[in-house]
Amino acid sequence: MKLKKIILPVSGLAAVACSTAENAMPNIIYVFPDQFRASSLAFWDEPEYSGHVGWKADPVITPNLDRFADESIVLSDAVSTCPLSSPYRGIFLTGMYPERSGVTLNCMALRPESTLRTDAVCISDVLKAAGYSCGYIGKLHAETPMKNDPANPGHYVSDRNPEWDAYTPPERRHGFDYWYSYGTYDVHKAPHYWDTEGKRHDPHEYSVKHETDKAIEYLRNRDGQREAGKPFFLVLAYNPPHSPYESLDDCMEEDYRLYEKMSMEDLYVRDNADTTLTKAPAARYYFANVTGVDREFGRLLSELKKLGLDRNTIVVFTSDHGETMCSHGTYDPKNSIWTESYNVPFIIRYPGKIRHRVDGTMLSTTDIMPTLLGLAGLESRIPDTAEGHDLSPIFLEDGRECTPPTATLYMRNLDGEKDPDGTVSGFFPEARGVRTDRYTMEISVHRDMTLKRVLIFDNLNDPYQLENISYKDNPELFSTLCSALQDKLEESDDVWYRKGILQKLL
Ligand code: CA
Repeated sequence: MKLKKIILPVSGLAAVACSTAENAMPNIIYVFPDQFRASSLAFWDEPEYSGHVGWKADPVITPNLDRFADESIVLSDAVSTCPLSSPYRGIFLTGMYPERSGVTLNCMALRPESTLRTDAVCISDVLKAAGYSCGYIGKLHAETPMKNDPANPGHYVSDRNPEWDAYTPPERRHGFDYWYSYGTYDVHKAPHYWDTEGKRHDPHEYSVKHETDKAIEYLRNRDGQREAGKPFFLVLAYNPPHSPYESLDDCMEEDYRLYEKMSMEDLYVRDNADTTLTKAPAARYYFANVTGVDREFGRLLSELKKLGLDRNTIVVFTSDHGETMCSHGTYDPKNSIWTESYNVPFIIRYPGKIRHRVDGTMLSTTDIMPTLLGLAGLESRIPDTAEGHDLSPIFLEDGRECTPPTATLYMRNLDGEKDPDGTVSGFFPEARGVRTDRYTMEISVHRDMTLKRVLIFDNLNDPYQLENISYKDNPELFSTLCSALQDKLEESDDVWYRKGILQKLL
């Protein structure tokens, strides 16, 4: 290896050590649209990919993500531990389970307790301290709305009651020094954002395009969006293909035209879909938004390459959870252990460091923060508070020891006690579950903590989860899965473990 020629900067010796280390640190771009299900990626039907999953790809057009997958490691079994918007975001940012991150339920004004802890160590806090510039663009939805509208102090950011949207002031941004974000707001073609200084912007264009434009500005850095010479960490949190997906107001017309004439049989390729649900036509608008995300993601990657930043940048494409889209007869798109909701896309590109392949590592949401830090060579900075595992040795194949997970935990929380005015305190841990390399099991309870339902599916022989295996008739299998679940509950110090809920049911 050639010795590096060190040019002494004017600021002295400390800066020499720092800049040498920084040169080795890769940039990280983390892109996660909301509710983008794993099967909405066309490449899964290609021979190289299809053998790794038991299901078919949705009939979507995703040329940019297909190309990206061909240059990346593609995880077939990544899951969203608590597949709901705010809890996911709390886990992703902190590496902690919801009870510790603070975000146990979807954030809104009537759930004031469910909010990202201000003292939680977030991935952005760690990267900032390691010398990164950190930028957040798009949907945050990890904080309870407060009466802190910068333009109207003492009020929520809107008069909606109860308020869902939120403004995040600088002291709660966890190391993100560039800000162009909002809490949650579902008008795809009239979004709004608060910038680093707290100024509100109301662009009248498709949010995915607008946010990609802002991300490209961040990459170009013509107006000092980030500190030149430092590595950067950019989070791009698109809202689509999240609902609404009902009309041309919710997507780009050019994308809708691609799906407009498709029949229900062509749109729904999964054996478990009920196309008689009134929601069924929504697939056309949902897939249109999938294609819209694909196009804009492709534009981001082109710019990254044009700027010569692609070689030293880790790019991740994932989602906060999936979308059931008429499977299992449910209208609830998420917050369930069904594969359509629980599995997420997870694709990592790291040129020269990660070899292209499809990989069955069962990555959980808690693993994301430590794994990203590990990929960036910052494993020594993974905070003790992170509860997941650094799986980067598996992906880098660098000889470091790492035990692949053999199961993943699933959790579903509902509102706890409600005041007469509707204010929620605490949460009710309605269901816990586990997924192994073959089976899915969920156990749910009533409010009085008696058994509500047990679901068991053999994903190998029944990838669409059509046959619930009777736990009473299969005591050995049930016992094995309960043991796997108990191990995960203990490892995560979950309330089901601390209160012995599983044992009392058995
Ligand atoms: Ca979501």
